[in-house]
Amino acid sequence: MSDNKPSALENYISKRGGDPHSWFRDMEGPLPTHTLIRVFSWVVILGFAAYFLVPRAPEPIQLTYELDLAMAPSGTLVVTMIAEGDLPGRLDLEFPPGVFGDLRNGVNPHGATAHELNPDGSPGAPLAVERTRDGWEVATRGIKRAGFIYQVDLTFIQGLEEDVRRHISSPVAGGLRAAGFEIFLQPVGTEVDELAVAIHNPKQLEVIVPWPALMRNSDRTLAAPPPELASQANISPGQGFEPGLDIPPVTTADPGKAAPSEPVPSNVLYHPRDLADLNNSLLICGDLQVMNVQVRESVIQLATDNTWSFPLGSALDMVRRIARTEMAFFGSAPTSQITVILSANRVSGNGSFDIYGVHTGNSVLVMMDPQTTWGELETQCASVIAHEMFHGWLGEAIPQQDPDMLWFTEGATTWYAARMLTAAGIWKPDHARSVLEDRLERDYKLNPIKTQMSVAAAAAQVMASNDQIRFGYAGGVQACMNLDQWLAELTGRSRPLDQVLRHLYEYRDGTPLTRLSFEAAVLEATGIDCKVWLDENVYRKTTLPAAIRLI
Ligand SMILES: [Zn+2]
Repeated sequence: MSDNKPSALENYISKRGGDPHSWFRDMEGPLPTHTLIRVFSWVVILGFAAYFLVPRAPEPIQLTYELDLAMAPSGTLVVTMIAEGDLPGRLDLEFPPGVFGDLRNGVNPHGATAHELNPDGSPGAPLAVERTRDGWEVATRGIKRAGFIYQVDLTFIQGLEEDVRRHISSPVAGGLRAAGFEIFLQPVGTEVDELAVAIHNPKQLEVIVPWPALMRNSDRTLAAPPPELASQANISPGQGFEPGLDIPPVTTADPGKAAPSEPVPSNVLYHPRDLADLNNSLLICGDLQVMNVQVRESVIQLATDNTWSFPLGSALDMVRRIARTEMAFFGSAPTSQITVILSANRVSGNGSFDIYGVHTGNSVLVMMDPQTTWGELETQCASVIAHEMFHGWLGEAIPQQDPDMLWFTEGATTWYAARMLTAAGIWKPDHARSVLEDRLERDYKLNPIKTQMSVAAAAAQVMASNDQIRFGYAGGVQACMNLDQWLAELTGRSRPLDQVLRHLYEYRDGTPLTRLSFEAAVLEATGIDCKVWLDENVYRKTTLPAAIRLI
């Protein structure tokens, strides 16, 4: 590989459009090791993994990552990456763009060494390791098996840091929470055909590795997916709804249904399907409470590193009801495991939200006030959980990549989350209706952005102003409601958009949702060509009328 190849970030930006130079304002010149590199963090979240799947090497190699949790209680992971096969002359290892060396993420990878591995697994001759802008390069010419060791230290991020994505990887009580895209170095320009992650857990910490990473004892063969399949973590800011009045009383889970998690083995081995799976994984260990319950063919797992004022069993029951309802809506679960993690919200700046929801793969991380009451969990946090879980279908199983479709992915997910909560009996219809009405009034109807850009354009920019983000989401809800109503008038059917969603899920082939595939699904599910309607109502600055039927 030539020395003047573009960096991961440059590649990423050029793929997405934009001028790489504007991103490197502060990072010209030679970079000493461990220097703070100012890279905008949003790039980490948006399908970065696609970059790593470009095959160039003649023969694919095999990778095993060994995570040593011995120092996890003090926030440190020691990672050994074993690369085997026909290794290239120089193995170029990078973290996904936008993360590496950015101390504001609280993730500090350092201390890299490498050596050849003898046939018996013992370390052989040391290998030269060179720091690059995005990672390290290892001299592996003529070598069949190499071990590369580095350390990742996690530190608490200041609460004033308002970008919630910087809070995903963090120390937790007795251990740590680490996102795959922040801890796993990956080869660039070298195809990988086998992946394994081994966890060495000498202190017997409670560990969870939610889907998609966890396929314990999996014998699935690794298929090379198209680069576009790399999924993304989505953020849903501003999902905190006002509490309503007519909320059903606390429901206590049937203790017979919920079960504590299995004893933690000291060593866990799992096989991610591909590098996108690896990036999407979320590893959590420490003083965790974990409970599981079976819903249809899926295990629903609830975990927390915090002590709450409500019984965890009740929260698990609520999560179970949401999962059951969403599975029933789509007809099946997207994966065999859905994990919800409840954590304390440490974001405290002026523009911060009360509750944050993040989904990575089929894991849902909800960060909320440590003093959250049961009532607040039901009225406010439930919608975040329902929203992020819904992305397991719309966003993951039906992959969201094209920014032009974010209005639909986020709009439909937000609207359906309220409807799912109503169907699950967690929200009363009046509460759901008033939540949606208030939100549409504030974020759509009265939003100053409305005269400036279309709903699709507003939603397409992930890191925009708060006003624009709210407008994109609420406008997406308004557009979905209006599209549903328009289709209902033409077809005489009730809720035709439900059929479109089920159609997209049922006939999914792993390719990302595009405007064309969406229009095709609407046509197949309802017989209506919606292209002109979308042009006029979603992709242009059109004021949409209030919908008649919200719930
Ligand atoms: Zn979302």
